Amino acid sequence: MSRNNQRRHSKHCHLCGSRLWGGGWVYVPNGESEQQAIVVCGRCQETALRCAVCGVPVGSRRVQLPDGRCICLRCGQTAIYDPARARALFERVVRVVTDQLGLALNVGADFALVDPQHLRRLAQEVQPLPHGETDQIVGLCVRKGRRRMMYLLSGLPQILFIQTVAHEWAHAWQGENCPLLRDPIVREGFAEWVAYKALQALGATKKTALMKEREGLYGDGLRKMLHLEETHGISGVLAFCRRSE
Ligand SMILES: [Zn+2]
Ligand SMILES: [Zn+2]
Ligand SMILES: [Zn+2]
Repeated sequence: MSRNNQRRHSKHCHLCGSRLWGGGWVYVPNGESEQQAIVVCGRCQETALRCAVCGVPVGSRRVQLPDGRCICLRCGQTAIYDPARARALFERVVRVVTDQLGLALNVGADFALVDPQHLRRLAQEVQPLPHGETDQIVGLCVRKGRRRMMYLLSGLPQILFIQTVAHEWAHAWQGENCPLLRDPIVREGFAEWVAYKALQALGATKKTALMKEREGLYGDGLRKMLHLEETHGISGVLAFCRRSE
C-alpha cells in the first residue's frame, strides 16, 4: 500500500478538479508505476474517503463492493470479489506453484473469500500473527487438523490476490518441509520468490520488476533467492530453504 506523499507540481486535483496552486499530494495505488499516480488537493487529502484496499483518497467516481466497502477505480478494474472468479484464479496460482515450482502440499488447501472483519477475527486466533506488506491483513492460511484453509480478503486487485495466494502457499510449504525455519530473510525471501514466480508465470511483468527493486527484508530476501535460482536452479532454492531451518 504504497502511499507516496511528496508534493509535486500538477494543475488540477484528480478528485474535485480544483486548481492546485503550488502542488498536491501524490498517491500511487498499490505501488504501481508512476503513470498510475493521482494528485489530490489539500482539502481532498484531509476529507476524502480512502480506498478500502490501497488507501488512496477516492472521489465520487469509485467502485462499491457487495459488502459496502468503497475502492478506487484502479483497484476496481481487477477487483476479485466474485467467488467463482476467485476460485478459478486461486486454482491457476496453485497449478503454477505445484507444477512449475514443485511445492505440492501433503495437506491441501481450500480457500474462501472473506470480509475484513472476518479476516481480523481469524487472525487473532492464529499464532504467530500474520504479517504482510500492508498495514491491513489481506490473506491468512490456517491449518485445522487434516484441513488447511486459505482466507483471502474480498475485493483484492488481481495482482495482489495472486501475490498473496502464492506467498501464503509458500509459508504452508515451509510449515511442512522446514517447520523450524526462523531466519526472516529466508522465510520471507522464499515466500516472495514464490509470489514472484507465480506473477511472472501469469504475465504480471511490471509488478515483478517492482518487486525486484523493493527495499527492506522482502526485497533483500527475494534478490537472494533469485541469485540462488540463477546459480542452482529452482530445486536449488527449495533445497536451500529446507537446509536453512
Ligand atoms: Zn480536491
Ligand atoms: Zn485502491
Ligand atoms: Zn510472509
